[in-house]
Amino acid sequence: MRFVSTRGRAPAVSLSEAIRSGLAPDGGLYMPNAWPTLAMAAVPPGLVATAQVILTALAGDDPLASLAGELCEDALRLDAPLVPVTDDGHLSVLELFHGPTAAFKDFGARFLAACLSRVPRTKPLEILVATSGDTGGAVAAAFHHRPGIRVTLLFPEGRVSPLQERQLTCWGGNVTSLAVRGTFDDCQRMVKEVLSSTHLVPGREVSSANSINIGRLLPQAAYYAAASLQVWRAHGERLSFIVPSGNLGNAFGAVAARAMGFPVGRILLACNANRTVAEFLATGSWSPRLSVKTIATAMDVGNPSNMERFRAMFPTLEEIRGAVTAVTVSDDRIRSRIEADVARFGRVWCPHTAVGAEAWASLPEELRRERWCLVATAHPAKFAEIVEPLVGGQVAVPPALKGLYQRPAQVTVIDAATSALLDSLNTQTG
Ligand SMILES: *Cc1c(COP(=O)(O)O)cnc(C)c1O
Repeated sequence: MRFVSTRGRAPAVSLSEAIRSGLAPDGGLYMPNAWPTLAMAAVPPGLVATAQVILTALAGDDPLASLAGELCEDALRLDAPLVPVTDDGHLSVLELFHGPTAAFKDFGARFLAACLSRVPRTKPLEILVATSGDTGGAVAAAFHHRPGIRVTLLFPEGRVSPLQERQLTCWGGNVTSLAVRGTFDDCQRMVKEVLSSTHLVPGREVSSANSINIGRLLPQAAYYAAASLQVWRAHGERLSFIVPSGNLGNAFGAVAARAMGFPVGRILLACNANRTVAEFLATGSWSPRLSVKTIATAMDVGNPSNMERFRAMFPTLEEIRGAVTAVTVSDDRIRSRIEADVARFGRVWCPHTAVGAEAWASLPEELRRERWCLVATAHPAKFAEIVEPLVGGQVAVPPALKGLYQRPAQVTVIDAATSALLDSLNTQTG
């Protein structure tokens, strides 16, 4: 299997090379040149085993293929239970918040760390991450204390929740945290600019752990694959997914699983007040804009970078409309959905998951009779200051998070300029 750039002006590379460089040299994102179609009957149950089958198929003759078992075992031995929400089987929830930083980003980050720490290299590796909340913490947790690798996190100052900020700034050691005076889109632009001129960071190999890295997407395809196969085997029906979306990396995992033949039905992108994707699907014109601040902060993205992968895979508007649909949900509706579902289902959603829950609730009745899975992207305890007043009680903090919150914070504030990022990178030691 070869990996090609969405912009079509870079040479095709192997999976290891695509993971290693993050962004293609023409500024595009790597995609497999064709999706392997897997024989469902041969796929064993469970996330680790499913991921191994997918990785082996995508790696082809790449050396990562022979490490597939070890890599998936190391990185993905995390719980991802599919839990019923309604008694009639119409709605279940895929809980992706049982990892070390209690959000789905743990899957991709750990997988990427497992891959990158096995790629031989001559220079130390610098990992750059622009984060709107959960990515940075997950990447830091996955790479902390790995020899020969440094991590620099960029997040928009004042636009992440207090607990998220703690999780981004509590590391030290090989992790540097930068609060950028700007938006997530500024952070993402600065990272992209440095990645496309890595000679400005002499003595290091520079890569990214953002959802633009194909290594993040592969394990994300695996949990959709495993969940859909579980339902198919039990009920003979496809499972449709509601994916709380910002940068569209998680949702692309669902699309990839379906492309490889897994029984994934509909894919509904649940967006907050950032309307770029929904408007594109409605009107056909792509107009990225500045991100709008919402209470589902990790989805505050005005120019979702993985859209480039969707548009490469589904070149016409008709095709993309056939692949996914989108809804947008205001902050008021997020709040009222959290209140309503704790009363109705006894479930406490994080604000991002609540965007998805609201998207499900607003589906037409006949669609709601199909089998749907709400993707729970983070644990509600990470957003206690929003969730607790709405549910009228405390949300228990998972043990992994408790440990993080006790560590001291270290952060540097910088301007939203690539030169400020370069200054920081070139003065770091170690
Ligand atoms: C990152 C994130 C999202 C959005 O995922 P994308 O892959 O950027 O679409 C949703 N919810 C939470 C909790 C997140 O951390």
